[in-house]
Amino acid sequence: MINATYQAMLNGKSVIRMIGERASARRAQIGASEVFDFSLGNPSVPCAPEFTSTMIDLYETQAPYALHGYSPSVGIESVRGAIADSLNRRFGMDYTPAHIFPTAGATAALAHAFRAVAEPGSEIITFAPYFPEYQPYVAGTGATLTVVPADTAHFQIDFDAFERALNPRVAAVLINTPNNPSGAVYSEQTLRRLAQILEERGREWGHAIFLISDEPYREIVFGGAEQPYPARFYANTLTCYSFSKALSLPGERIGYVAVNPRAEHAELLVPMFAQISRTIGHNCPSSSMQLAVARVIDKTSDLGVYERNMELLYGALVRLGFTVEKPGGTFYIFPQSPNPDAMEFCEQAMEYDLFMVPSDSFGVPGHLRLSYCMETDHLERAIERLEQFMRERYG
Ligand code: PLP
Repeated sequence: MINATYQAMLNGKSVIRMIGERASARRAQIGASEVFDFSLGNPSVPCAPEFTSTMIDLYETQAPYALHGYSPSVGIESVRGAIADSLNRRFGMDYTPAHIFPTAGATAALAHAFRAVAEPGSEIITFAPYFPEYQPYVAGTGATLTVVPADTAHFQIDFDAFERALNPRVAAVLINTPNNPSGAVYSEQTLRRLAQILEERGREWGHAIFLISDEPYREIVFGGAEQPYPARFYANTLTCYSFSKALSLPGERIGYVAVNPRAEHAELLVPMFAQISRTIGHNCPSSSMQLAVARVIDKTSDLGVYERNMELLYGALVRLGFTVEKPGGTFYIFPQSPNPDAMEFCEQAMEYDLFMVPSDSFGVPGHLRLSYCMETDHLERAIERLEQFMRERYG
């Protein structure tokens, strides 16, 4: 016998991956330069040079048992300290190492955060459009994911719909800002209003509602703006971070959960994460990766290309008549599909070797997600191809 749940999941593979695989197959046929792949959010800039030199230095100077040995189950103390200091310096917080738990990327950070605050049968609320992997992440905890419909004008929170969805079974509210797929950056006003509602309802129901803030795109914000730090506005916040995007290290699997020191049971949560690790087979990110990111904690890759690409693509989409909100960050844009059947539009675009993702699995119909992680000259050619497609099929 094999497990029926996971066997059934084989029929529900991610649409993003499916389109990405079709793009790869096409690259093998006609060469990478002729394929315009907007499907995957895979960073296209190299990692920060300081990261590479740090890795070389660690390998040359550290004792092998320190570099390759087991990490304590709550993470390496000096690494937790470096992360806490950086967050305190940047966002005026008061984390100590005891509030930081290194993880294998945001995926593992979320896995720990969900399990620490939700029970089987409880609810986690999130907002459309949302990262489709939240579905399996939450399903694996036994809790249910409730999706609040989108404010498709600006992709901020529709508070009326949110208040209607809240109920005493809600253990946590999951936000992602800057947002994959919309590129929206939640404003301070949005975060304050969210905090006020969570405080009021938590008091009314006699238990904390946790805010789980998924922030892998925190550093990719445009126009010289900054993402307001959600934990500053709400005590019961678990911040889930990843170095995948800002340092271009998605294959290295490194991130963390930061527990707001003012959260209910703050002192229990990190030790509980270590117990959760035992049940899900996580047992810490690699020791060398923890040590490396701690040394380059405030560095990023050269992220400027994403903003240049966003401006180019946004301008082209507007010129072509798409209805589209200008992204405030990330490396995605989320226009309305000119064809209400977004999947059909994407199929037609593939005939022109343009690979885009239909929005349905993000919880919003009739939109397209385009990732612009690519060299700018390739994007310029992709835009020419998009113009040709639109002229010939939607002119
Ligand atoms: N959350 C969001 C919104 C993402 O877009 C991603 C990856 O694309 C993740 C989480 C997972 O990130 P990681 O690579 O750190 O596991």
